[in-house]
Amino acid sequence: MGRGTGGDKDSLMNGPRYSAAELLGRLVHFDTTSDRSNLALVAFVEDYLAQHGLASHLVPSADGAKASLYASIGPAGVRGVALSGHTDVVPVDGQTWSSDPFVMSERDGRLYGRGTADMKGFLACVLAAVPDFVKRQLAVPIHLVFSYDEEVGCLGVRPLIAEIGRRFVAPRMVIVGEPTSMSVVDAHKGPVRWHVEIKGRAAHSSMAPLGVNAISVAGKLLAELARIEQELERAPRAERFDPPYATLQVTRIDGGTATNIVPVYCRFDFDVRALPGVDAAAIDRRIRAFADRECVPEMRRIAPEAGIDIRVANEVPPFAAGSASEAVALALRLAGHNETHAVSYATEAGLFQEAGSPAVVIGPGDIAQAHAADEFIAKDQLEKCMVFLDRLGAWAERGTPLS
Ligand SMILES: [Zn+2]
Repeated sequence: MGRGTGGDKDSLMNGPRYSAAELLGRLVHFDTTSDRSNLALVAFVEDYLAQHGLASHLVPSADGAKASLYASIGPAGVRGVALSGHTDVVPVDGQTWSSDPFVMSERDGRLYGRGTADMKGFLACVLAAVPDFVKRQLAVPIHLVFSYDEEVGCLGVRPLIAEIGRRFVAPRMVIVGEPTSMSVVDAHKGPVRWHVEIKGRAAHSSMAPLGVNAISVAGKLLAELARIEQELERAPRAERFDPPYATLQVTRIDGGTATNIVPVYCRFDFDVRALPGVDAAAIDRRIRAFADRECVPEMRRIAPEAGIDIRVANEVPPFAAGSASEAVALALRLAGHNETHAVSYATEAGLFQEAGSPAVVIGPGDIAQAHAADEFIAKDQLEKCMVFLDRLGAWAERGTPLS
């Protein structure tokens, strides 16, 4: 139907309509592994939204190779509901797939492809719902927030969040569509990653007292970290989480040069999955104080150049919506559920919440398939998400307060 032929509202908004599954096939076909550009996918979304009369606002990465996309449907200058998702996917390297991970294929009611569950399925549903959102007279606007580099530490959404209150009106609430099998998640742990570098002094291993053994120093630090790990496990538990305590793990280690040389360097990484309320800064202070007290003076007596560098490489805040959260109340109502869940994986929800927008996590697909070979989403998950978004549109049109 051509523009204006019918005169009704439908014919004036005649951008293309696709099913969520069709859009998902298009999105999967863009290889947006986190170390690659997402600009082709962003251009596709921008073009699609433009066909529905919507302007996209991009927040590019520092090198310009990637961008987040923000778009808004409904009245301007009003705080609305943001639908947030990441465009990047994890690598397929080393995984054995039954079919091309970047060509979506359907088998037994499941759609296979990298990112189908985590989390292009949600993005596809949001895009499929756009024509309906546009058609409605929304009282509460719906904002789309598509980020990049989520899988490498929720990096890409941060510059966009920094523009909230400047370029973008602060969302009244944020729905983060990570795969939860469409159940309502109101809390998650926050990963904090440290990188530790120890500089010792090399010496012939037969003359060990002349050197500073960086690996031995690492051993002392690892022992202290093991003590912290045990204390975290013994701390008051939050039984909603699995495991119900904060974990600490040394995740990588590398050191030494040869079997007959006192090692001059050792590097390792460790990771804390903090429960909401666990003070990661206190762990940071403790390991630094231990290094300064128990390691560095002894090292410097032999080698003034020796030292230990401890830095936080990445931190995603834990998320706890709180019992009075309007975002959680809305998500429960739209999903038709009455219970919430806590998960151990991280999302962008904590960052939005920290920036002043109440958040909730709910999206199609099962986290069990995320990051795995033969990742898939069940088609009925897309259907459930479409029902959820349709109810969101109806609610946003009425603009009725939540009670
Ligand atoms: Zn994800």
